[in-house]
Amino acid sequence: MLVETGAPLPKFARAVLDFDDGSSLVFVDSRALGTIDLHPADAELDLGLGPDAADPEWTAEQLATALAPRRGPIKPALLDQRLVAGLGNIYAAESLWRARISPFAPCNALRRPQITKLRKAIDAVLVRATGSRYTDDDTVTLDVYDREGLPCRRCGTTIERAVQAGRSTYYCPQCQPAAAPKAVSATKGKRPRPAR
Ligand SMILES: [Zn+2]
Repeated sequence: MLVETGAPLPKFARAVLDFDDGSSLVFVDSRALGTIDLHPADAELDLGLGPDAADPEWTAEQLATALAPRRGPIKPALLDQRLVAGLGNIYAAESLWRARISPFAPCNALRRPQITKLRKAIDAVLVRATGSRYTDDDTVTLDVYDREGLPCRRCGTTIERAVQAGRSTYYCPQCQPAAAPKAVSATKGKRPRPAR
């Protein structure tokens, strides 16, 4: 965010760049996951990033091609910025729930219609997130992320949490059936669909 130089800094200000015109650019990062790199002016940067998740020209076809050689589970793959750039832990969980895909499903086992649904789900999640702080804003309600123990908004099954590659994953074991039996849990109490 841009502020006047010397103005009080927001709580999670991690770095400040002061400009000659009396303004300062403040890097605000509440989760301390971001980084800043300094490069000479006009340097050519190869960030090794995959397509931008918000790019309308990024197709399901491209996603399918990128997933085909991967044997690992889909959820950590979606967080790999070389596969697709711009998806964080929350968006990845929300997208998989929306597409009814298990976070444990191996990338190369996903069928083409599932990948098409996933591409659309990512779009829908990002569109919904645009302009709001997905985690703090009352106007946006998360569908699955951080809802462990709560009923699935679609089917009422209790949302479960697992840890994959060091990150929390939330999923509905009913809507997002796991390919591997070990991922299915015994806590499947069906509850009435809650009002939204
Ligand atoms: Zn469900």
